[in-house]
Amino acid sequence: MNILVFGPNGSGKGTQGAIVQKKYGMPHIESGAIFRQNIQGDTDLGKQAKEYIDRGDLVPDDITIPMILNRLQEDDCKQGWILDGFPRNKVQAESLDKALKDAGMNLDYVIEIVLPRDVAKLRITGRRLCVNDNNHPNHIAFDAIKPVEKDGKMVCRVCGGDLKTRPDDQDDEAIDKRHDIYYDDKTGTMAAVNFFKQLGGGVKVISVDGRPSIGEVTDAIMKELG
Ligand code: AMP
Repeated sequence: MNILVFGPNGSGKGTQGAIVQKKYGMPHIESGAIFRQNIQGDTDLGKQAKEYIDRGDLVPDDITIPMILNRLQEDDCKQGWILDGFPRNKVQAESLDKALKDAGMNLDYVIEIVLPRDVAKLRITGRRLCVNDNNHPNHIAFDAIKPVEKDGKMVCRVCGGDLKTRPDDQDDEAIDKRHDIYYDDKTGTMAAVNFFKQLGGGVKVISVDGRPSIGEVTDAIMKELG
């Protein structure tokens, strides 16, 4: 099963992607997480991407598109994948569509988590990243995924690992820029969402309201995924 997950930053798309991954066992490929790992590892890719990410800009397509298309060619993707954070604009959507067709891969589902921009913004500053596993969601404002206290500090509720914040989550301008890109339906991410929604060819679109609790959003998605 091959799945695209869309949603503005703060919509819980990473959290839901991780839940779907756990249930179906396919790799959860997050473009943003790949960049962050490379920044942490101080690789050439990380060095190239960092300035864009810190500003809330997109990393240029000539870096991002091959990175993701090559990742989809790896062995663990043969049984299916969940792609999260890519495509982020219309050019990436068209490149992905072409690459899938060339590789004879079908797209089965497009999951769209719909969330008003003001709600999304409120959610961003409270999220925390586990240093051990990006698929351990933690958020200081949501009881279901609140970090736990250990030895006087807040740690990951799943594994007890240290938590950190993303620099681009604490920067008001970077948050707004990311949302400008997401909600842009001419060339931005909403244009990519609409591209896949209108593609036809057996792709099933699952649009869910991102405002209810994490569990309710999961239920709404799972009901459609079957
Ligand atoms: P995310 O973790 O999805 O919020 O992504 C964090 C940052 O990584 C974004 O703000 C972009 O700077 C960069 N990024 C992630 N995915 C893409 C993409 N598909 N195209 C370009 N830049 C991306």
